[in-house]
Amino acid sequence: MTRPTSAALFLLSCLAGLTYAENLPPPEVTEYWQPVPAVVTATAGLVPSDAIVLFDGTSLAAWEPVKANGHPWQIEAGTMVVATKPAPAPTYDQQTKQSFGDVQLHLEFRTPAQVVGSSQGRGNSGVFFMGLYELQVLDSYNNPTYVNGQAGSIYKQHPPLVNASRPPGEWQTYDAIFMAPRFAAAGTLISPARLTVFHNGVLVQHDAIMRGPTVWRGEPKYVPHAAKLPLMLQDHRNPLAFRNIWVRELTLPTSP
Ligand code: MG
Repeated sequence: MTRPTSAALFLLSCLAGLTYAENLPPPEVTEYWQPVPAVVTATAGLVPSDAIVLFDGTSLAAWEPVKANGHPWQIEAGTMVVATKPAPAPTYDQQTKQSFGDVQLHLEFRTPAQVVGSSQGRGNSGVFFMGLYELQVLDSYNNPTYVNGQAGSIYKQHPPLVNASRPPGEWQTYDAIFMAPRFAAAGTLISPARLTVFHNGVLVQHDAIMRGPTVWRGEPKYVPHAAKLPLMLQDHRNPLAFRNIWVRELTLPTSP
């Protein structure tokens, strides 16, 4: 039997490719032009033009203590510093006056340069989406603790994929995408809360599914709540500093 030459095989494959291409629809069939995405100006070093600035170093006007007997935090050298009070006094947790659902969040934090305490007692705070779902803030630089409670964890639910912590006293960043849970009118859960997080630019949570609001003891459990609730920062009796906090409200294909 005569074997086809490589040149003949090449010619045949070209002809087959041409026939295949001729049977495909025109490329315009899979192109659409509407709706046009909104323009967001993203200038280097500035917040995106559609962001809601929650702290720019000059004012705490966007924040209030969660508890009526709470106390506002302080501004020190353009940073927002946790005002702490030893237990059993009420915490000075702070929440935004505005409520949010699905958001993109940017936040910078600095754990104390002088290391005090260990495990959960060292540089502890937290970002509570909707005041309920905690992205843990902790000094996790050479500081062993339970892994689903270290920095970048969804507290007591998901450890971070990696530990991207910087040393104490250095500024660190969180960039997160939070999707609020959806509840049916009757209160049943339609879809759980989800969280994606970059810690210092490193992916530490990827579309992680939350089992319910954060709890310290016991198993989390969903309870129906409003579609939008304030963002909260935790006073865990450690003097952390925050700066450059902003959110973008997201309208996703699945948003109600
Ligand atoms: Mg915490």
